[in-house]
Amino acid sequence: MTGAEMEPYYDQFEYLAGISGKAGNIKGQLQEGGNPFEDPRSRDYPNPPMQMTYAPTLFAEVGRSIGLHPFPTPSANMSRAYVNPLGIAMGQCTYCGFCERFGCANYSKSSAQTTVLPVLMKKSNFEVRTDSEVLHVDLAPGGKSARGVTYVDTSGEEYFQPADLVLLCAYGLHNARLMMLSGIGKIYDPGSGEGTVGRNYCYQTNAGVQVFFDDKNFNPFIAAGALGQTIDDYNGDAFDHGALDFVGGAGINCIPTNGRPIGTRPTLPGTPKWGSAWKKATVEGYKSTLGYSSQGSSYATRNNYLDLDPTYKDRFGRPLMRMTFDFPDNDIRMSNYVCDRMEEIAKALGGKQYAVSRRKKGWDSVPYQSTHNTGGAIMGTDPKKSAVNTFLQSWDVPNVFVIGASAFPQNAGKNPTGTVGALAFRAADAIRNQYLRNPGAPLVQA
Ligand code: SF4
Repeated sequence: MTGAEMEPYYDQFEYLAGISGKAGNIKGQLQEGGNPFEDPRSRDYPNPPMQMTYAPTLFAEVGRSIGLHPFPTPSANMSRAYVNPLGIAMGQCTYCGFCERFGCANYSKSSAQTTVLPVLMKKSNFEVRTDSEVLHVDLAPGGKSARGVTYVDTSGEEYFQPADLVLLCAYGLHNARLMMLSGIGKIYDPGSGEGTVGRNYCYQTNAGVQVFFDDKNFNPFIAAGALGQTIDDYNGDAFDHGALDFVGGAGINCIPTNGRPIGTRPTLPGTPKWGSAWKKATVEGYKSTLGYSSQGSSYATRNNYLDLDPTYKDRFGRPLMRMTFDFPDNDIRMSNYVCDRMEEIAKALGGKQYAVSRRKKGWDSVPYQSTHNTGGAIMGTDPKKSAVNTFLQSWDVPNVFVIGASAFPQNAGKNPTGTVGALAFRAADAIRNQYLRNPGAPLVQA
């Protein structure tokens, strides 16, 4: 698939979600103030960029002064009141700083719940069964088609729900697990390299910088979940890799999402972790610290994968999903290179001190890094190496479609949601205009 083929689906998703941003390339013409490295798009975002607070404004000014190309980060927070193509009205964001990890009381943050479900709920042929969990997909004898799903609700009783068509939309990791639990496709074996479900698990290779000032007040409590500036000069193939020893790259993002008093406590390196010295340092650091981070690509390797845990089970007796992962050497080299570039920005910012947190081998699941998990049911053109075709239709059970970042063969240095939405629109288009004419048939011949 090319960028041009995907563009109409990105466009549909961005207008559904009311994305606030500035196009960098419309029909091949570079646009002042947007991302010059993006693929051509047919029109601008539906809403203008969010208003910038001081930290991303300074970050962009300094980035520009050293020859980089900052642009407003596209945001699913509404920069203005917006009515999406389904007729759903959303309010203007108030920059309340309680965005990520919280619902929006202002109806200014896009999600499936805010932009699609209210319309579906009004349809007489649409029904949601809440507090229910699908245990597995039931296959017909022979295992070549699905006949429905088995689910359980809070009563503990199991129900069989017949279906002609099953869409797995359970988040990437659980999509892969449900396929494994249902016997859809063959589970990947890293020893032989055979099997498709569970392969190409990828994450995101992130690192961060904090710059400490004496004389600045960033008012970090004025914030939104995706309010900020991004620099893509070292992302993807925007830069020359000829003399470098890695593939991939990272976006550098100054997105101060919040100044919440428990979650945001930047302190100078060497500060004690408790006591009066720590308290004094948090007072000094709260308003005057500027943070930014690299969100780096993650490439698939043979030994990073998902499978079913041989020991641990959930409350229904199903094996848990097991994740086997460490950061590939290539991705560590990439991240270190981008960290060096982030240090150049830190020096140009000119604070009294800066601290860099570099990505290291030895993945640790404890500190939060990202929820951008991808792979496990990847799309492709070869049924021996992919679980679904590029319409997200299972190669093995054609009346099952698997929607989510589980389809990504690799992960880029970007948030996955836009591509998840675009791929979902593409799959829906294919189901409606191709699959339903000949239900049960593969859309792509292997
Ligand atoms: S910052 Fe987030 S939660 Fe707050 S009003 Fe804006 S969109 Fe809503």
